[in-house]
Amino acid sequence: MTKHEFISQLRARERQFNRRAFRGCTLLALWLIGVAVVDYLQQHGELNLAGSPDLRREVAAAGFIAVFFIFVLILAMTKQGLQCPHCRKQLVAVAARIAVATGNCGFCGEKVYD
Ligand SMILES: [Zn+2]
Repeated sequence: MTKHEFISQLRARERQFNRRAFRGCTLLALWLIGVAVVDYLQQHGELNLAGSPDLRREVAAAGFIAVFFIFVLILAMTKQGLQCPHCRKQLVAVAARIAVATGNCGFCGEKVYD
């Protein structure tokens, strides 16, 4: 693998992670807005949940989904970078920058690209 291939693969994975992070943050923001709107409407008497208790459950379910998505996002973050061909550790964040700058793995010091 050449340096340019390494960098392009690293950037592709970063773009993929950023898209996932954006979707997760959007989902979380929508959930928080939904909870705020439901609470506001309940406090001001404009929303009667006596006939439709499912709305609270739907908001809670959306929150559960958001928490699950964030958990998946954290797992994806650990798989974001490229793997060192020698020690098999993920080259993410600072380790990826060290690999780009030096050509060597930040963990084992071996060459990661030609
Ligand atoms: Zn290594």
